[in-house]
Amino acid sequence: MTATTARNRMLGHVITAEQFDRDLLDVLFRRATALDGVRDDRLAHRIMATLFYEPSTRTRLSFESAMLRLGGAVIGTEAARTFSSAIKGETLEDTVRMVSTYADLIVLRHDEAGAAARAASVASVPVVNAGDGPGEHPTQALLDLYTIERELGRVEGVRVAFCGDLRFGRTARSLALLLALYPGVRMTFVAPPVIQVGGDILARLEARGVECRLAEQLTDVLDDVDVVYQTRVQKERFTDPLEYEQARTAIRIDGAIMRQLPATAIVMHPLPRVDEIAPEVDADPRAAYFRQAANGVAIRMALLEMLLA
Ligand code: ASP
Repeated sequence: MTATTARNRMLGHVITAEQFDRDLLDVLFRRATALDGVRDDRLAHRIMATLFYEPSTRTRLSFESAMLRLGGAVIGTEAARTFSSAIKGETLEDTVRMVSTYADLIVLRHDEAGAAARAASVASVPVVNAGDGPGEHPTQALLDLYTIERELGRVEGVRVAFCGDLRFGRTARSLALLLALYPGVRMTFVAPPVIQVGGDILARLEARGVECRLAEQLTDVLDDVDVVYQTRVQKERFTDPLEYEQARTAIRIDGAIMRQLPATAIVMHPLPRVDEIAPEVDADPRAAYFRQAANGVAIRMALLEMLLA
């Protein structure tokens, strides 16, 4: 598939990982590799708006960096809930209608699942979902999958242990949906019941024939993994502080875990981490999370090129 055909198939908006197929991912990853380190002006005179109703460091800044590296311009508001007209009572739909007339693309982060789809339904420019509450985070999943391919040299047949907050964590949900496109991938969801993965995702994976297992302890599955995908317990989404306390310290990766991890396996994390990965792990070459975050720029350059060039 060429980049142009791929672009025509992008449906305009990027809302869910389920929009992607293998061909599209292959094109995107090839373009990301080609664009890595590039600085030119292929998106000159194009404007990207970042509209962030929830905090972000990597997603917003890597999108902005990607746009600037391709010669485009960036406008936006972080803390949109307080710094935009949302505080005056404006609906998301009205804000998006207006921003559509100021920019050629909107990157939206919001605290409600389904917000990106609502925005897309009224936008006259492409909307990219940069995380919608506990819903999805498709562009994080793209960079995560790209990282697995780069680090391990393959995706087919990989064994992935998703750990941590699989109930509220949107990145694991989106990545699991992308991985389901690759034959032979085995997924284990490692979490205590209070933050275990939702039945909706399991049903979608099983419908596609993916072999899924549930576990409570990482040590039970460590000898059978290629990727440990650790996640932060999403404090901001708990309504019951007791449940949060139960979940907070459930799964932690430290030197002892690393000693049991196969030499060829990697540890990933969408970041930010709190204390679910001990700092002593950072120096281990199998700790891939900072390389993973760095891959976000090239992936988002490829995506912006596909949507805007
Ligand atoms: N940065 C990721 C997200 O926005 C992971 C996290 O916040 O824990 O979903």
